[in-house]
Amino acid sequence: MTFRRLRIALLLGMLAAALGSTWLEQTLARGWRAPLVVDVIPVNGDGSEQASETIRTLRAEDFSGINAFIERETARYGVKLSPAMRVTLRPELKAHPPAPPRDGSVLKTVFWSLKLRGWVYRQSGQLLPQLGTIKLFVLYHAPQDGIALQHSLGLQKGLIGVVHAYADPGQTEQNNIVIAHELLHTLGATDKYDAEGKPVYPQGYADSASPQSAPRSEAEIMAGRYLAANGRAVMPPSLERCVIGARTAHEINLDEGFRRQFASGR
Ligand SMILES: [Zn+2]
Repeated sequence: MTFRRLRIALLLGMLAAALGSTWLEQTLARGWRAPLVVDVIPVNGDGSEQASETIRTLRAEDFSGINAFIERETARYGVKLSPAMRVTLRPELKAHPPAPPRDGSVLKTVFWSLKLRGWVYRQSGQLLPQLGTIKLFVLYHAPQDGIALQHSLGLQKGLIGVVHAYADPGQTEQNNIVIAHELLHTLGATDKYDAEGKPVYPQGYADSASPQSAPRSEAEIMAGRYLAANGRAVMPPSLERCVIGARTAHEINLDEGFRRQFASGR
């Protein structure tokens, strides 16, 4: 490549990044016309042997429960995609993504999200940003009694998720719940739990038609938990007991699939 061409490519890349990327990538990812393109990038979160062992034995099929969930749930809203997403398991990444600010100040958060997007772009090793590819960095940690993992997060701008997961084969299904939750954040879904971690009624309930007081056994994915008979917020054992509620469906543009289904039926 000549210097002039390289310069033009660079300028075009920057232009694409600056102007259209957010709009374009959201159009690509939320169109529901083709499977979601998802890269999973594993990271050893705590430097433990358990985490490196988990990463070593990781297979793309470990995430197939997420595809089954998205396929089943989007079908309820008229989308017919099988598979609903294509997961590529990338090699382990040795670098850690920049940590979010602890105090949550707006300015620091904005600055951090720019920093994260810049970091993801540099990690990709590509000249042009990977538009339309959802990039999920999964940081594995050895489970420690009584110590909760850091908060996972999903950013709509840049289609980036940073997920803290347990390095334990027995936790694969619950890790997939967290990954699916952050994945839907990248598509525009908002949280549906309150400050105490309890689902917000009605949008945070899998079955919002029944009264709030009725005990549940399924969770709305953006609430992540359901209220059991004893009033406690419980995380379901797997995505088989999670649903995409109507509010979340609207936020991730599933209305589009719904409209198309009925338009084609006429
Ligand atoms: Zn969330």
